[in-house]
Amino acid sequence: MDIKNDEDVSMQPAAQIKPKATAQDACKRSDYISWDEYFMGVAHLSGMRSKDPNTQVGACIVSPANKILSMGYNGFPCGCSDDAFPWAREGEMLDTKYAYVTHSELNAILNYRGGSLEGTKLYVSLFPCNECAKAIIQAGIRTVVYDSDKYNGTPSNVASKRMFEAAGIACVPYHHTGRTIEIAL
Ligand SMILES: [Zn+2]
Repeated sequence: MDIKNDEDVSMQPAAQIKPKATAQDACKRSDYISWDEYFMGVAHLSGMRSKDPNTQVGACIVSPANKILSMGYNGFPCGCSDDAFPWAREGEMLDTKYAYVTHSELNAILNYRGGSLEGTKLYVSLFPCNECAKAIIQAGIRTVVYDSDKYNGTPSNVASKRMFEAAGIACVPYHHTGRTIEIAL
């Protein structure tokens, strides 16, 4: 019986033995993205799934151990077609998106089926509206890291901030690092 063992290193010529790692290979990369860049990047990437022609928002919920638990973006509920329901911002209530759209933060909360979100952190590309603020507080999320706050001072925004402050939720503005990432898909 002819048994050939290709894995037998002793049979390989000396030239094929891998050289020892250089000093540079042995050190870890130094230009890896930070946790904040990673999670806010994932939030923005999620927002790119939105069909809303005017506003694309993404959210990412992270555990205290820096594990991503859930993600979401603004869109209509399951079964409500993106083509059949309206994306308009003006007109009769029933003819606008406001009657139907679910925001990214609420979607991220509802998408999570793994148990409790108590003590988690939420990264979101736009400061939460008052309706999402209620859901964030009730879900047990303790920290909100937000990017844009373009609606600062509007009644919804002020209501959110009032509730977050009363509930002891930390609201942390995301600090841009200036890094841009291009991903070939
Ligand atoms: Zn909202």
